Amino acid sequence: MSVLEVEHLTKKFGGLVAVDDFSFEVDEGEIVGLIGPNGSGKSTVFNCIMGIYGVTAGSIRFNGTDITDDSTHQVVNKGLSRVSQESNPIDSMSVAGNIKLFTLPNSIVSLRGGASQAEIYDYASRIDIEDDLQEMPDELPHADVRRLEIAKALATEPELMLLDEPFAGMNQAEIGELAAQIERFREEGMTMVVVDHNMGGLMELVDRVVVLNNGDFLASGTPEEIAEDDAVQEAYLAGEGL
Ligand code: ADP
Ligand code: MG
Repeated sequence: MSVLEVEHLTKKFGGLVAVDDFSFEVDEGEIVGLIGPNGSGKSTVFNCIMGIYGVTAGSIRFNGTDITDDSTHQVVNKGLSRVSQESNPIDSMSVAGNIKLFTLPNSIVSLRGGASQAEIYDYASRIDIEDDLQEMPDELPHADVRRLEIAKALATEPELMLLDEPFAGMNQAEIGELAAQIERFREEGMTMVVVDHNMGGLMELVDRVVVLNNGDFLASGTPEEIAEDDAVQEAYLAGEGL
């Protein structure tokens, strides 16, 4: 069954068409990669799904329910969560405080009255930052700050998690470690969409890849098919490569 169905999504910013009649769907338990050169519209697709941006045209369904016009709060409460491309921890609060903040009633995502210490420990341990809970975010290495962002998303107990460039700025060892952690989420029953600007960390991780180019659907297939697709290679020629 499709958990997420994006149909004919178009998003314009004034005269700029950031996403142009783009459709894709995600089945339960899948990890789908969404790739495209920088500026191709990947983050805009996530922002439309999460109710951050209103759509210009098209529809979005989650578990069969139309969420096109839902607020972020409504979308999160239905079981969707997103890890942003940019980390935005509050530097004056500990890692534990940052995770808890995401579960408080007045937060934009708010599920309930705030997670308990045991629950916060559990979210952190699922992404291996439980030893950092009392640290301040600006004392953590980049890879752990990214893990904190993932722990915040886990704290809303999503069924479907959208990860926007989770591997950016990580070295090969960190990419491998994070890919293994994401694989563990799948074993726990989560469905995921992972955005990256190239195939980098996705090759071994995802079941299927969907390629965006200038806001348009370009191709979809297995990671192997996409790595060998001439149209995809062509789209990446001017940039840093597939
Ligand atoms: P990607 O994530 O694939 O790098 P984005 O979705 O961030 O691409 O951007 C797609 C296009 O939409 C770019 O041209 C970008 O400048 C534009 N864009 C994204 N968000 C906004 C916004 N809030 N206002 C105006 N233009 C935007
Ligand atoms: Mg982006």
